Amino acid sequence: MSNREPGFETLAIHAGAQPDPATGARITPIYQTSSFVFDDVDHAASLFGLQAFGNIYTRITNPTTAVLEERVAALEGGTAALAVASGHAAQLIVMHALMQPGDEFVAARKLYGGSINQFGQSFKSFDWHVKWADGLSADDFEKAITPKTKAIFIESLANPGGVVMDINGIAEVARKYHIPLVVDNTMATPYLCRPIEHGADIVVSSLTKFLGGHGNSMGGIIVDGGTFDWSKDDRYPILSEPRPEYNDMVLHETFGNFAFAIACRVLGLRDLGPAISPFNSFQILTGIETLPLRMERHCENAMTVAKHLQGHDKVAWVSYAGLDDDPHHALQKQYLPKGAGAVFTFGVKGGYQAGIDLVANVEIFSHLANIGDTRSLIIHPASTTHRQLDDEQKEAAGAGGDVVRLSVGIESVEDLIADLDQALKQL
Ligand SMILES: *Cc1c(COP(=O)(O)O)cnc(C)c1O
Repeated sequence: MSNREPGFETLAIHAGAQPDPATGARITPIYQTSSFVFDDVDHAASLFGLQAFGNIYTRITNPTTAVLEERVAALEGGTAALAVASGHAAQLIVMHALMQPGDEFVAARKLYGGSINQFGQSFKSFDWHVKWADGLSADDFEKAITPKTKAIFIESLANPGGVVMDINGIAEVARKYHIPLVVDNTMATPYLCRPIEHGADIVVSSLTKFLGGHGNSMGGIIVDGGTFDWSKDDRYPILSEPRPEYNDMVLHETFGNFAFAIACRVLGLRDLGPAISPFNSFQILTGIETLPLRMERHCENAMTVAKHLQGHDKVAWVSYAGLDDDPHHALQKQYLPKGAGAVFTFGVKGGYQAGIDLVANVEIFSHLANIGDTRSLIIHPASTTHRQLDDEQKEAAGAGGDVVRLSVGIESVEDLIADLDQALKQL
């Protein structure tokens, strides 16, 4: 064996996997079982007491899912990971581990529409309160911090517009106040950006999007950066106080730099329950093997389409950080040097009605609410994903009436351009 650190492309195919010890199967099998037989009574007791690692029940661990977790942890440069049923489930479980009733967290306003709802509406039932940062700068985040702030949440590359966040700057604010920085890396993927290298403590992603990459399976993942000192004060009791159900074990003391991932698993996932199916883990693992190749082509096609639209007379503006004159281009070069991703927005002349007509006219692009498929996708956020927001919130989230969002796929780019041209021509 050589001493080389494996490259990203190698990790995408091999990390976490080995030939199946029972059968020699080269591909990680789908362990489609709800539960696992104990060796004996003592073995069972040690598993339940967290004194040994092993499988009990697929809600908590599963061998297929374990390979997925190890692979994404390796790609993100984290210490451990926890895969769950969806990206939203990942966000819920992260916050469940960080927040006590009455606590706050600071979040960027430029977020996936579903996250704006989850944070602003549903989390209120847990008495967890989001404070939206007024702008995108580190200062804006600092101003929103109070003694009750337990987390900062941003997207590395923000959905739906091509906004790149200043991860280093915001991480510095988080460190100053000893608050973990949680970064949603769904749109960038670890191929384009590794937030832990820029100071993030926890990374969450929807596996449903580019990581799975084929629009066929829901999943989410939490990656523990292993960077945060949970015992520095008493603000994160789930990690720093004895757990009665585990024989008064203190999770941070016992599990060190992967204690957050363990807490999410043995408390959050155990009690809230959104486990990923082993079949979905298998599909997503297969998808991840080609992540580098797909992302490269996604970015190349997106750049070609963005440049074409920029010169189109029915298009008012294009917001893609990869374009030289885009306000986020400098941050893109810093944080996502390999490419600006595949998702971007543009403004169609004619406003709300033109946006609706355009999505009706396209033929290769699918009109649906997803991103990160091999197929090209289109949506008019104001009438769909962001329709529940009021006009001011829509504008703030980058989803005004004229905005159309594309997730550019890996088809022949000439066909994508021809499709958009014929659809725009009919307006
Ligand atoms: C889709 C998405 C989510 C939610 O993930 P699901 O798998 O749909 O639950 C969260 N953040 C971003 C940026 C997304 O695109």
